[in-house]
Amino acid sequence: MIWGFASVGCTMTIVQGLYLFGMVPGYPTAIYSSVVAFMAAGFAVLIKSGLNLRFRDPSMTVAQITTPLWPAIYIMYFVSDPQARTAFLLMATGGLLFGMFALPRRMMLAVGVLMFTAYIVLLVALLTWAPERVNWRVEVIIVFAYFAVLMIVAYLGSVIAGMRTTLKKQNQKLEILASRDALTQLPNRRSLMEQLAQESARLERRTPDQSQLCISMLDIDHFKNINDTWGHDTGDAVLVKISQVLQKTMRQGDFVGRFGGEEFIVILPESTLAAATLVAERIQACVASLAFTELPEGTRVTVSQGLCMHKHGDCIEVTLKRADEALYQAKAQGRDRVVVCPSGQNS
Ligand code: GH3
Ligand code: MG
Ligand code: MG
Repeated sequence: MIWGFASVGCTMTIVQGLYLFGMVPGYPTAIYSSVVAFMAAGFAVLIKSGLNLRFRDPSMTVAQITTPLWPAIYIMYFVSDPQARTAFLLMATGGLLFGMFALPRRMMLAVGVLMFTAYIVLLVALLTWAPERVNWRVEVIIVFAYFAVLMIVAYLGSVIAGMRTTLKKQNQKLEILASRDALTQLPNRRSLMEQLAQESARLERRTPDQSQLCISMLDIDHFKNINDTWGHDTGDAVLVKISQVLQKTMRQGDFVGRFGGEEFIVILPESTLAAATLVAERIQACVASLAFTELPEGTRVTVSQGLCMHKHGDCIEVTLKRADEALYQAKAQGRDRVVVCPSGQNS
């Protein structure tokens, strides 16, 4: 936006210079300056009020490149020296360069064609009403050069636009890769921590009595035995299957991720401890009833969970520690169970 204003400022300076050197009359200069100042003020108001954020392109690139075109064409009509008009063409080409970083391929070419057409319209007007200001030999050369430069810039811009699209897609892919666990496809530890921070922030915006967020830390029981007895691949298959079950048992709005190794975290927003306990018990039942084709028939795999509530003002690390302590108790009490950390404890 600032570069857009700077570019308009430069064209204004050129017009003032032409007026100073007597190459353009005062009356059109005044009209030109007022219109351009009015347009710049319009853009400034849109930005200051935040209205531009509602547009698909908040930088309003196309509008910023094309609106100054019309007052420029108007003032160019009054410029007595044909050579002086090329200064505007240079500025217009500079404007198109801005589009390289924001406009899609087709739009880039369309703006280039529009700029060229505007100049042709100007020449037709000059030839009709003020032929004495046209040196047609010079104009033929200028028109050709202007067309060539605009098309080169538009083409390069469209290539860059294509590169931007590829980069965007690759970034989206990378984002998915960086946030998912490769084996189970569940959100990874990084995503879990982000989600926890988000949910915790949401909680802080509410009144303390409205705020309810439960967290369960889940760990597969005797998982090392599975690896040691049937191999690492079988261990992996068990991890994948349990991950699928976890995801299926979640209610809408709940979130589950792999915290590391054979540990998972279940985030249950807007949930009382009693409701969260029901979800945790359902998970216990679903996992215990799973039949694993990779394991000998009848082999049961169980999990243990430590469940606790994250309250207004709590620190996420402390909540995770409480869930971990509850999980430790579940293991100590014989595994295959949920231990609920009574709310208010250790906080
Ligand atoms: P507990 O009931 O106390 O949790 O016992 P456990 O055997 O489940 O716990 P322990 O921490 O002793 O062992 C966890 C094992 O999980 C050890 C590690 O090799 C295995 N593990 C961690 N990540 C993976 C993985 O991605 N694939 C496989 N196959 N094994 C994994
Ligand atoms: Mg573990
Ligand atoms: Mg374990």
